[in-house]
Amino acid sequence: MALFNDNQKILEFLELVGRLKHEKRTGWVLCDINECESIAGHMYRMGMMTFLLTDENNITKLDRFRCLQIALVHDLAECIVGDLTPHCGVSVEEKHRREDEAMKKIAELTGIAGDRMYELYKEYENQSSPEAKFAKDLDRYDMILQAFEYEKRENAPKKLEEFFAATYGKFDHPFIQSLVEELYRQREIFEKKCLVNGNT
Ligand code: ZN
Repeated sequence: MALFNDNQKILEFLELVGRLKHEKRTGWVLCDINECESIAGHMYRMGMMTFLLTDENNITKLDRFRCLQIALVHDLAECIVGDLTPHCGVSVEEKHRREDEAMKKIAELTGIAGDRMYELYKEYENQSSPEAKFAKDLDRYDMILQAFEYEKRENAPKKLEEFFAATYGKFDHPFIQSLVEELYRQREIFEKKCLVNGNT
């Protein structure tokens, strides 16, 4: 009987996670970006980026698996509370309270697995480990890369400058810093190209 009950809860958990496949990220919706990415898509690419850590660029010996796990759970609470941004009229404290409550509900549904997810979520929220700090870099990087992709798709250079301004100078890890430089370089080239073509 216990197993039936557990599996029922696990199914409920998986359906909650499934919502993230379709839930759009609020930042893009507010900028009128059509067909914008989902929260799951954002976390997936962050997860993929953890594979890029190698002996050469992982100088502080970050635990790659832990980085991956944090990437995959850091926005998990949004399957219940949605993607709340400062523009949503909800205070930062209230947002944290709602997310904490949501993560506790998830932990309740999934037992030990949920306790692990809750712990990783807290680690990220408190930025209490080098892995959590690296995940924060990935979070910001995925956002500006996505912004650049939309600028290119819409042929609208600098349209999403606010996302670049908000993250400028905030990248911590040397490997990510080097990727940021490359992104800035490509974005500048794109802007110049558009200027030449008279698109701005
Ligand atoms: Zn995120």
